[in-house]
Amino acid sequence: MGLCDRSHRGQDHRRYVLKADASRQWRLLDLQALDTRLDQIAHRKATLPELAELRGLAPQTSVLDDDLVRARTALGDVQREITKADSDVQLVRDRSARDQTRMDAGQGTAKDLQALQHEVAALARRQTVLEDIELEVMERAESLAADVARLEAARAELAVRVGELEALRDKAFAELDAEVEQIGHSRADIVAGVGDELVRLYEKIRASSGGIGAAVLRQRRCEGCRLELNQVDINRLTAAAPDEVLRCEECRRILIRTSESGI
Ligand SMILES: [Zn+2]
Repeated sequence: MGLCDRSHRGQDHRRYVLKADASRQWRLLDLQALDTRLDQIAHRKATLPELAELRGLAPQTSVLDDDLVRARTALGDVQREITKADSDVQLVRDRSARDQTRMDAGQGTAKDLQALQHEVAALARRQTVLEDIELEVMERAESLAADVARLEAARAELAVRVGELEALRDKAFAELDAEVEQIGHSRADIVAGVGDELVRLYEKIRASSGGIGAAVLRQRRCEGCRLELNQVDINRLTAAAPDEVLRCEECRRILIRTSESGI
């Protein structure tokens, strides 16, 4: 099975043999280094701790916003109750003052006067009841105003933290984006130096091999899959022309020979 497979792969290898000067193959390693860095940058951007913290704070912000709307609405309702209680008390006071004026004027019969005295007494009792109600409503308003103030402070504190995190995120993104742009220029030069055909092969392998399309052969070991090559493969690599683009028999990545390859 192994032999059969190997011979089949050998045929494939001969069929698709690609030639590129050793210097172009080495430039492929530069391209790989840049692409690895681009992958690291993309990963860094996706896993920035500030992003995780911002995501964590979003529900808190939303809960606080909802609580604030509720607290402000409740406070508004109670403030309207205060206005109503205030005007109820004022009506009674006005009525009582009018009655007092009429009594002071001493007009009308003794019976009228007595009726007025009764009414003034009743109004005084009524005023006490209404003032108690007003006081109770004002206490509730005070408590709700304290709730609103507490929530506003918490919301403001959260907004400050969110602002700090967004600034840190934007700074990190700007630095990483600047590096991506810089790499883009170098990459274009290297791609031109490597050549279309080899770059296409590299891209294809890279896409299906965890981002590594080309690897160094170092001390008989493929740095792509970390496996040491057997003697049969080593013999084949040793016999291959320097401009032959080689592939690792294990991981199929482009295998680049250097002075450290051990062959
Ligand atoms: Zn390999």
